[in-house]
Amino acid sequence: MKPEVLSVADFSGFDFPLMESHFTVHKLWQAADPETLLAEVAPRVRGMQATGTGTVAGTLIERLPKLEIIACCGVGYDGIDVAAARRRKIPVTNTPDVLNDCVADLAMGLLIDASRGIVRGDRHVRAGKWPQGEPPLAARVSGKRLGVVGMGRIGRIIARRASGFDMQIAYHARHRVADVPFTYRAELVDLAKDSDYLVVVVPGGKETRHLVNEAVIRALGPQGILVNVARGTVVDEAALVKCLREGALGGAALDVFDKEPRVPEALWPMDNVVLAPHIGSATRETRAAMCKLTIDNLVAHFSGKPLLTPIG
Ligand code: NAP
Repeated sequence: MKPEVLSVADFSGFDFPLMESHFTVHKLWQAADPETLLAEVAPRVRGMQATGTGTVAGTLIERLPKLEIIACCGVGYDGIDVAAARRRKIPVTNTPDVLNDCVADLAMGLLIDASRGIVRGDRHVRAGKWPQGEPPLAARVSGKRLGVVGMGRIGRIIARRASGFDMQIAYHARHRVADVPFTYRAELVDLAKDSDYLVVVVPGGKETRHLVNEAVIRALGPQGILVNVARGTVVDEAALVKCLREGALGGAALDVFDKEPRVPEALWPMDNVVLAPHIGSATRETRAAMCKLTIDNLVAHFSGKPLLTPIG
C-alpha cells in the first residue's frame, strides 16, 4: 500500500508521475469540489506536498489526523502555518540551495533591465517608434553600489554575480555574516542611502512585512532602483507606487507582489518598472531539482530515513 499524499498546489514543472510512482496522490487543486475530496481522503492522508507560494492553513493541518510530513516545493515557506505543524510535531521540509543560481541570475537580469531599459527598448522597437527616435538614455550598471537585503544562500550568490560587474557591495541582515567580504549595515535605511540598487532577498512572513518601507524607498532615492525577488509582503507596495509616482524612486524591478497574481495596476504604465510573474526559480533545470528534492524528502520520511532538508 502506497502512503497517501495530499497535493495542495500545482507547480510548473512538478513531476507528478514521479510522485505517483511512490505515493497515492490526491490533487486538491484539481478537485472540482475540494471539500468533497477532503472529506473522503482526510482520514487517510499521511503526507502533504505544498509549494513556496501557496497557503497551508492550520485548519487544513488539523483536518488531517494522520498527517506526518509537509514537503514544500520552494525555499520560502511563509505560506505554511508552521506553528500548527510544530504543535503536532509534523516536520516541514523545503528546497534550499538548488534554486540559488537561478534566483540570483534573475535578480541580476532584473537589475540590468531596470537600469538599461532592455524591455523598454523592446517595447520601443515593437511599437514602431525607432524611426522617430531613440529611447531615453539609461543608467550604467558596472561599478555601481549594490545593497543586498538578506545575505543568505541566495543573497551571497547575487553578491558574487555583482562582483563580476565590479560593484561595491554592502548588505543588511539581522546579523553580520563572518565569511563574506562585504560591508555590513545594521540599519536598512543606511544601506539604502548608500546604494544605487537595493536587491531584496529575505524570507517573507510577519517579521519582514514592509521591511522595505517608505523611509527606505526614499533613502534609495530618485536615481535608485529597487529589485525584489523575495516576497511581495517585504515591500510596502502602496509606498512604492507613491514614491515612483512622485519620482522619489528611480525605478523598480519586481518578481514578487503582495497579492499574486494581482499586480497593482498603477505599476503597469510605468516605463521605469519591470514586472515579472514570480519566475525566480522557473527554469526547467531548477524546477526539476526542486521537485526531486521535495519527493526525496517524502520518500526519506516514509522509508524511515533522515529528512534531507527539514526547516530549522
Ligand atoms: P536564507 O538563506 O534563509 O537567507 C535569508 C537572509 O535574510 C539571511 O541573511 C537572514 O539573515 C536575512 N533575514 C531574515 N530575516 C530578516 C529580517 N527580519 N531582517 C533582515 N534580514 C533578515 O534564505 P534564501 O534561501 O537566501 O532565500 C531567501 C528568500 O528568497 C526565501 O525565503 C524566499 O522567500 C525568496 N525566494 C524567492 C524566489 C522567487 O522565485 N522570487 C525563489 C526562491 C526564494 P539574519 O538571520 O541574520 O537576519
